Amino acid sequence: MNIHEYQGKSLLNAYGAGIQEGFVAETAEQAVMVAHQLKEKYGSDCFVVKAQIHAGGRGKGGGVRLAESVEEVGMTASAMLGERLVTPQTGPEGKTVRKVLVARDVYYKGESDIREFYVSILLNRNRGRYMIMYTPEGGMSVEELAEKKPETIFTEEIHPAAGLRPWQCRNIAFRLGLAGTASENMQLFLMAVYETFMACDAQLLEINPVLKTSDDRILAVDCKMVLDDNALFRHPELAGMRDVHEEDPLEVEAGRHNLNFIRVGGNVGCMVNGAGLAMATMDIIKLSGGEPANFLDVGGGASQETIEAGFRIILQDPDVKAILINIFGGIVRCDRVARGIVETYKTAGKITIPVIIRLQGTNAEEAGEIIKKSGLAVYSATSFREAAEKVSMVLENL
Ligand code: GDP
Ligand code: MN
Repeated sequence: MNIHEYQGKSLLNAYGAGIQEGFVAETAEQAVMVAHQLKEKYGSDCFVVKAQIHAGGRGKGGGVRLAESVEEVGMTASAMLGERLVTPQTGPEGKTVRKVLVARDVYYKGESDIREFYVSILLNRNRGRYMIMYTPEGGMSVEELAEKKPETIFTEEIHPAAGLRPWQCRNIAFRLGLAGTASENMQLFLMAVYETFMACDAQLLEINPVLKTSDDRILAVDCKMVLDDNALFRHPELAGMRDVHEEDPLEVEAGRHNLNFIRVGGNVGCMVNGAGLAMATMDIIKLSGGEPANFLDVGGGASQETIEAGFRIILQDPDVKAILINIFGGIVRCDRVARGIVETYKTAGKITIPVIIRLQGTNAEEAGEIIKKSGLAVYSATSFREAAEKVSMVLENL
């Protein structure tokens, strides 16, 4: 699960890592109030207003703007809120800004002794260990850096039993070119970031930039944090940070029915049981000249209700031009699947897109009877190859 920058920063702050202080606002009035509070506390008129969306590259897209008075914060917030923000990571359609973070401008105009770094903690899957990835070239996109100057990216592997060790933090601070107080503060910062990561069961914690201020404090200016869905049951307070506006509505709907559904954007929807068969089905769709619209594993124990829910979700995808239902009945009984399909046809309104159905295994014959009796204009297939051929045929006739 992704969370917003302001939420990630509040977690970092709770575990003792320095952050660029600020508060979230959903209206321009709230943004002005936040700016007033920050001004009272710090006596400064320099602010930054940051769009809160689940995508990076906001700086490039105009989603991070400086403001030099409380009024300007209000105007900037009002210009951003409700608008669509397009960044290199959102795709051309962009994302609607529903919240902004109003924070102190921690760069202090005119000061030259500041530095920006990149620090992240992520899982090294090859090694089965977490690692800290860091570079003194902060502020830039790491993807770009990895291409152009890979020698500037360093990693420090974290031993699962020992955890992050102080000597590793010293090493990182040294490689970042820090000494004295700045180095000490960086080491404390790294420990706090690591603690946040572990305590929240995060999958990724990426801070770009980490700022060294001219008075040698170390602050998280940005924060991208991804939490492990499988550990969320241990963190009800974190589960509440979910923002469903940021997620694909069809995926949210599928989650409600415990369906494993991932939208991938093609034109042939598929409903399958079992992840392996689902992958194979996506392959066969591609081989038939189509593009799979989604991955959908209805699970080994799919009932009539899950089938109905899955079918409805695929039907809601406007890109879908054909649907392939490919079920192998092991524990799942094909007759139930067939009833789910027939039921959806009755209740979902007129279904005009072609549907190819392959039901094999337990009670496949009854299933065939149910489909036949229903009089539905669907294409039936017995073998996988036949299903693929019918997908091809249907696509050609579009
Ligand atoms: P991203 O573009 O989505 O990664 O958003 P960031 O939070 O990283 O902000 C983008 C860039 O804006 C950063 O790399 C900083 O250089 C700059 N920035 C962010 N906060 C401040 C601030 O308080 N003051 C100034 N001057 N620049 C800032
Ligand atoms: Mn950033």
